[in-house]
Amino acid sequence: MARSAAAAPDIHEVVARLHQAHPDARYELDWETPVQLLVATILAAQCTDERVNRVTKTLFVTYPDARAFAEADRAELEEALKPTGFFRQKAKTVQEVCQALVDRHGGEVPNTMEAMVRLPGIGRKSANVVLNTAWDLPTGIIVDTHVNRVAPRMGLSRETKGDAIERDLMAVVPRSEWTFFGPAMVLLGRYTCTARAPKCDGCVMADICPKVGV
Ligand code: SF4
Repeated sequence: MARSAAAAPDIHEVVARLHQAHPDARYELDWETPVQLLVATILAAQCTDERVNRVTKTLFVTYPDARAFAEADRAELEEALKPTGFFRQKAKTVQEVCQALVDRHGGEVPNTMEAMVRLPGIGRKSANVVLNTAWDLPTGIIVDTHVNRVAPRMGLSRETKGDAIERDLMAVVPRSEWTFFGPAMVLLGRYTCTARAPKCDGCVMADICPKVGV
């Protein structure tokens, strides 16, 4: 059962203020195909979206689709991914995922959560990023490192793990808002409710947020 903090603000007010603060919220990774978005999402672990976008600008020219990634020379791919950090693990994951796309889905990204989380190394967060963003499918709510921090501060969850926080959010946020809510909370966390020294004074949530642990 979902657990929510006693001091949680009214969720409809939260959603309205997110629309006010980040009306065009979208995930900030650049992509042209769902395969590219999935690869960019893998590369974004422990790396800024800006840096990933710089790398993928040329990466997606060299490797335009799942088959190209699956058949890539591992050392050359590692070299290309170096600026994103953890490049050996990321190259391995990208190749395993793309091989699975080729083997199971004709080289395309499947459009269900069930099939997505069966891909090697892909959890609900990455699956939601792709499904929410590429097809606007409300499969869940993106809980990345920012949402993981902001939702508990706002009293929207007492959990610490991403999947549990997502369950709490899915229990209260209207489903029609799920694909907006994740990216908007990411932006609130990235620019206002920052890890260190959150800017509560200039935050749209200031008068309704319980500021748990801040
Ligand atoms: S009021 Fe402060 S703690 Fe609450 S969401 Fe805004 S920045 Fe974060």
